[in-house]
Amino acid sequence: MEGEEFKVAAKEMVDYIVDYLTNIRERRVVSEVEPGYLRPLLPHAAPDTPDQWKDIMTDIERVIMPGVTHWQSPYFHAYYPANVSYPAILADVLSDALGTIGFSWNASPACTELEVVMMDWLGQLIGLPQEFLFTPGGTGGGVILSTASEATLVALLSARSKKLKELGHTPISDHPPLVAYTSDQSHSSVERAGMFAGVRLRLVTSDEQFSMRGPALRQAILADIKEGLIPFYVVGTVGTTSACSYDNLKEIGEVTREFGLWFHVDAAYAGSALVCEEFRYLMIGLELAQSFNFNPHKWLLVNFDCSAMWYKNSNDVVDAFNVDPLYLKHENQEGLLPDYRHWQIPLGRRFRSLKLWFVMRMYGKQGLQAHIRRHVSLAHQFENHVKEDSRFEIFFPVTLGLVCFRLKNEDNAMNEKLLKNINAGGVVHMVPSKAKDVYFIRFAVCSVDTNSDDVKISWKEVKKQTDLLLN
Ligand code: PLP
Repeated sequence: MEGEEFKVAAKEMVDYIVDYLTNIRERRVVSEVEPGYLRPLLPHAAPDTPDQWKDIMTDIERVIMPGVTHWQSPYFHAYYPANVSYPAILADVLSDALGTIGFSWNASPACTELEVVMMDWLGQLIGLPQEFLFTPGGTGGGVILSTASEATLVALLSARSKKLKELGHTPISDHPPLVAYTSDQSHSSVERAGMFAGVRLRLVTSDEQFSMRGPALRQAILADIKEGLIPFYVVGTVGTTSACSYDNLKEIGEVTREFGLWFHVDAAYAGSALVCEEFRYLMIGLELAQSFNFNPHKWLLVNFDCSAMWYKNSNDVVDAFNVDPLYLKHENQEGLLPDYRHWQIPLGRRFRSLKLWFVMRMYGKQGLQAHIRRHVSLAHQFENHVKEDSRFEIFFPVTLGLVCFRLKNEDNAMNEKLLKNINAGGVVHMVPSKAKDVYFIRFAVCSVDTNSDDVKISWKEVKKQTDLLLN
């Protein structure tokens, strides 16, 4: 494809994208295909001679769309949001065209330099303590990683390296019996980080508000020390995936200080809400953490992938993963700016800060706040619908864009059946969760364009399926 042909195709694609997003309500939110649907729609092998662009374009509706779950649909209420916005799409187009791999400052100075400034902008926007930001002579700073899972793993590996050094071990030598901690409500990626690193991970029992508290953590640590284990890392969550509950960062932070442990805070979803001052109370105690992560690619209008991670002492991560072959060295590597290859697991990295730059400029702080507040108010609208129907109960208090609800006088099996029927209806899509053995249904406000009428339609569908099931 040459430039002129690309211009025509790109315009066609832009039209397709805008039509898709504008008319998305007309599509069934979840697909009806069976596993293996796609292979029979394609030839057995790649074509010998070039296909025509128009045929590829036609195949999007024929091959792809039947198997797409429409995450941007206002009737998609599953998991957590994965917002897209036009400014972020434009930034990704530019990033794809530049095709830079910005692993070091030298590899593409703008890639590193914009990321440094954007991580400061974003950190200021959510009210992060100053120690997490880049300051002349300071050790704080942020980096864009791919996912919250990567952030948790990188922090764990850095914490392990730091602890091993303190104990006089090298990362390659036999490890003493290290142990990490998180709540029984934290995301599965935390448990996986422990598995990847081959360290024990203790799940601390949360309280009745699904919150990990200091005394429970302290008790678990003391029991492990008694058994000869060496605690080194704790992950606290602001906005759990299951019910959007909150760990007590202050209490946890004090315990981690007492025992000299790395404290990482995972706010993958809820972090975006911190652009609004009224939600900043959720991060009280964050000043005691070593690292903090949230996903603008969830709820801050930045397309996947863009996971923002800050360290108070970036030397801890740089020292943990620093291998410096000649072909990656450059004259400015001891300078003012980071070589981000030391801050992450892969070497290569895309120009993701463009997305943050475009989005923060095109929405401004006020636009981002309005987006979050609108979603929170839509969640409260759905909460009110639930409360007005005596067959239901709200399972957990609503603070942000997630409503957890269930049939009040019914067992888990009946609630499971209700959700199965709701999803089979094809109008809306939700997923369940379970906390302390109670099954509940999660309604997350996801699409950027969800409005009050959409929420009414979603609720109407829940009511309809409930009537059918209970009568
Ligand atoms: N942590 C929390 C609290 C989450 O809600 C999620 C995903 O929903 C994750 C971590 C994992 O996010 P990622 O897909 O960016 O690894």
